[in-house]
Amino acid sequence: MQEQGVILGAGISGIGAALLAKQQGVSVFVSDASPIASTTKALLDSHQIHWEEAQHSFEKMRHAHWVMKSPGIPNNATIVKAFEAINCPVISEIELATRYTNATIIGITGSNGKTTTTLLTHHILKNAGLNVGIAGNIGTSFAQQVAEENHDIYVLEISSFQLDHIQRFAPDIAVITNITPDHLDRYNNDFSAYVKAKLKITENQQQNNLLLFNSDDPVLEQAIQTCSSRAQKHPFGMELQSAATTTTVENDQIKITRKNNTTMIPTTSFPLMGRHNLLNALAAATIADVLNVRKEVIRESLQTFKGVPHRLEKVLTIGGVNYINDSKATNVNATYYALECMEARTVWIAGGVDKGNHYADLLPLVHEKVKAIVCLGVANQKLLEEFSNVVDIMIETTSMEEAVKIAKKIADRKENVLLSPACASFDLFDNYEDRGNQFKQAVRNL
Ligand code: ADP
Repeated sequence: MQEQGVILGAGISGIGAALLAKQQGVSVFVSDASPIASTTKALLDSHQIHWEEAQHSFEKMRHAHWVMKSPGIPNNATIVKAFEAINCPVISEIELATRYTNATIIGITGSNGKTTTTLLTHHILKNAGLNVGIAGNIGTSFAQQVAEENHDIYVLEISSFQLDHIQRFAPDIAVITNITPDHLDRYNNDFSAYVKAKLKITENQQQNNLLLFNSDDPVLEQAIQTCSSRAQKHPFGMELQSAATTTTVENDQIKITRKNNTTMIPTTSFPLMGRHNLLNALAAATIADVLNVRKEVIRESLQTFKGVPHRLEKVLTIGGVNYINDSKATNVNATYYALECMEARTVWIAGGVDKGNHYADLLPLVHEKVKAIVCLGVANQKLLEEFSNVVDIMIETTSMEEAVKIAKKIADRKENVLLSPACASFDLFDNYEDRGNQFKQAVRNL
């Protein structure tokens, strides 16, 4: 009997998955609770893929062998629960796509640093001349690339939501950048459940697979020690003593030790700011070394990496003041690293939707480096309460333009204005990109 698959959601990953499954001989049905764009419907029709819109006809779909849930559909949606109730496997796009490829899979997860590490890894591997694709939360659909492009290697940025629905997914190289509280709301504020969700990336790995993890992160280090992963473990970190299998930093050089070999790569020309980005570079360089990329290529690629917009992005220097956009810092940990690498007094623009933040970790840094806090959010009370004892100037604003103008008045030559909100953006902005773009525009308008 022909394999039958259901795709819930007709967005980028849903369409990609439908095309791949169809190509692989599966009888596919796409179901979306909302209207489907006419171009998408035409595309599905041209591939003889059946679809429905504005409804989920469960009875019609209940005999499917599997259901692929697009990432935007919540785990507790009625239709998802209905399939679970009849024990029909609900899988994610990474699960589906990896079933149909023999490519080397690099999966990168963690609370912060996924996008940067994924892009940096891709940049190095591409410079090495490898046939490498990039997917996951980034770019085009992974499944569609497997169907149409056939890369030898895929670098995947993987969120814990995608890991919720894997069955056999086993990356050749898994990376966990760190584990800090973010999206805890999705795990009923249960931190151990959130840690477990991140560790799923290694759940199906075998002895010949590799698990790279940031051992400077005590939560992660502890979690790895107690997890039952079969993969070879390779810690990376700056506070780590080098040993038989480690990546560390010594005398401004990345030192990768594995299989009785040591590779040293200078870091002095790596352009990204901050200790956290060096950690990302340790992970990316190790992956490249494992894939036998020459160290000269790794060094050059670290040097030419442009960074990622909205992540500690240098915008402009106006009147001797540096304006830095770190809009993607939507949690305290990301902001911690941003403040840590500020080398001059800083006017800090912060605030937005607080996801249960604990600001205590920031207090010493704020005390040392922050000249003023410009609060930018609908509700600023928590920021005011947390920091009014350590910072003399705290001002409330409700638009980016106002926040930037006020920051300009306060900052003197050689000082910084840093947007690193530690909060989500949805109170005043569409998303973090909108927030970062409005910051850049406001700075350009000064
Ligand atoms: P993610 O994709 O996991 O959200 P990004 O690379 O987009 O990660 O970075 C998100 C935020 O976290 C940015 O503010 C960035 O400066 C910061 N960041 C990047 N790498 C790390 C890291 N390894 N540890 C902590 N914060 C990081």
